[in-house]
Amino acid sequence: MNASDFAAWIRRAAELVTADAERLTALDAAIGDGDHGLNLARGFGAAVTALDGLPAGTTPGKVLIGAGRAIVSKTGGASGPLYGTALRRAGKTLGDAAEPDAAALGTALRAALDGVRELGGAGEGDKTMVDALAAAVTAYETAVDGGAGLPAAARAAATGAAEGAEATVPMVARKGRASYLGPRSAGHLDPGAASTVLLLRALADVTG
Ligand code: ADP
Ligand code: MG
Ligand code: MG
Repeated sequence: MNASDFAAWIRRAAELVTADAERLTALDAAIGDGDHGLNLARGFGAAVTALDGLPAGTTPGKVLIGAGRAIVSKTGGASGPLYGTALRRAGKTLGDAAEPDAAALGTALRAALDGVRELGGAGEGDKTMVDALAAAVTAYETAVDGGAGLPAAARAAATGAAEGAEATVPMVARKGRASYLGPRSAGHLDPGAASTVLLLRALADVTG
């Protein structure tokens, strides 16, 4: 994947998040404050605008760092700093590589997960985006270890994210606003886990 492929990923993520903004907001209305779709549509919209300002000949790392910065500055709520950190960490991990391969992208995705965990303090089972992202990263790594190329690994990651998100339904939230509901948070899909699925689906869309 070169820099324009990474830019295409962010643009596709913005499209999917915007198209599903109402669903994300409805999920958040059930166990949070009903702004997740709006937050992400605004944040990823700002990321797309930031991409337009990057110079020709930029690197994949700079694309992700630029998008991450825009998301942190323009996204309200907990998810902005978390997704912004994920993208900036991934971008830093890619370094100056002009065309990172499947393994390098896996290292970057793992770094993104570590960044979200460190910032938010959530682990797997806490009913957050971490459940979807961790499942995605594990599925991606397993695919690459098995010899998959980037498109197949990205599809595996998208499937893993969807499974990780589905697993949040019965969970009781221990982080974020949903945790204020205690046991009443069970029986609902976590909105951040649902949006993480869209981000990984966007990656699969642009690599496949
Ligand atoms: P807010 O809750 O501030 O309104 P959003 O609605 O945009 O922010 O995002 C909510 C999502 O953020 C949750 O569904 C959850 O996936 C994620 N989230 C919240 N707190 C944390 C945390 N500490 N660690 C990881 N993810 C979190
Ligand atoms: Mg919210
Ligand atoms: Mg909010």
